[in-house]
Amino acid sequence: MIIVLEKGISDEKIENVIRHLEDYGFTVHKSTGEEQIILGAIGIQPNFDTRKIKILEGVSAVYRVTEPFRLASRGYQKENTKIKIGDVVIGSNDVVTIAGPCAVESEEQIMTIAKIIKEGGAKILRGGAFKPRTSPYSFQGLGEDGLKLLRKAGDEFGLAVITEVMDPGQVELVAKYADIFQLGARNMQNFPLLRELGKTNKPVMIKRGMSATIDEWLMSAEYILASGNKDVMVCERGIRTFETSTRNTFDLSAIPVIHKKSHLPIIADPSHAVGIRDKVIPMARAAVAAGADGLMVEVHHDPADALSDGPQALLPEQFFELMDQVKKIAEIIGRKA
Ligand code: PEP
Ligand code: MN
Repeated sequence: MIIVLEKGISDEKIENVIRHLEDYGFTVHKSTGEEQIILGAIGIQPNFDTRKIKILEGVSAVYRVTEPFRLASRGYQKENTKIKIGDVVIGSNDVVTIAGPCAVESEEQIMTIAKIIKEGGAKILRGGAFKPRTSPYSFQGLGEDGLKLLRKAGDEFGLAVITEVMDPGQVELVAKYADIFQLGARNMQNFPLLRELGKTNKPVMIKRGMSATIDEWLMSAEYILASGNKDVMVCERGIRTFETSTRNTFDLSAIPVIHKKSHLPIIADPSHAVGIRDKVIPMARAAVAAGADGLMVEVHHDPADALSDGPQALLPEQFFELMDQVKKIAEIIGRKA
């Protein structure tokens, strides 16, 4: 932690700040410049509340040097986390595609879409059975029947499956059918759910909360890691801004920022970020070029009749086009899709 003291601060006040820092367990180094004095406080305390120092008399600014998260940080683990799901590895040189409908709607629907995405080269099938809908009157998902259908489609086409879990009480049930848990944007800070997912031995993909900073998002990952589950990946799905042309604003820069701050893989979800079909492909291309470890896109063979998120679902031919382009982009940056 770096503490900048006010110009002209008295010796008494400097001593007071140093004493507080030492009482909190820091070793303090004082640097005296021509105009200002700076204190360096050494000691790893990820949960230290810097306001305790900011409020002291004579303190002008306090800067944290270490991240507030530890297990999720690049400093803690230099090598990328690699998550194995059958013969698929997320966080390796391969750019892995997760695709499927927003929600599992029927056997015919999920089988049709699973076949399409397999043909296009996706490795993981997505589909919600428990849907976190903004309106209580919207389709809420098929529940366990949906999980069964998703599993059946995954097995039929040799695809791993990912689906959302919304409540700590659902974790055991969802674990019976899914290979990966999806933690939705609206639940990014559902702490009992994060803890429960930390006790399982299945990978978890944490979507970024709509208004979450990157550090808050990684703190949610820290909850799962600290509870014992090391197979965590994060997913950028757009954030709320003042812009209304797209459903959310796709924070492309989150991809290199996460790679710098953390060893966890990052998946890009342009479907929820832009919310409009014709803008998904360009943003997916950009995400791969920016270094995303994987893509998650919604695909539907009959989006006009989809029970949720139809307008953002790619048509089968668009999905094939996307996969084609992504392969070429991945190659340019020395990866494989
Ligand atoms: C979804 O993936 O269908 C979904 C609901 O996403 P998010 O949590 O990002 O809104
Ligand atoms: Mn959706």
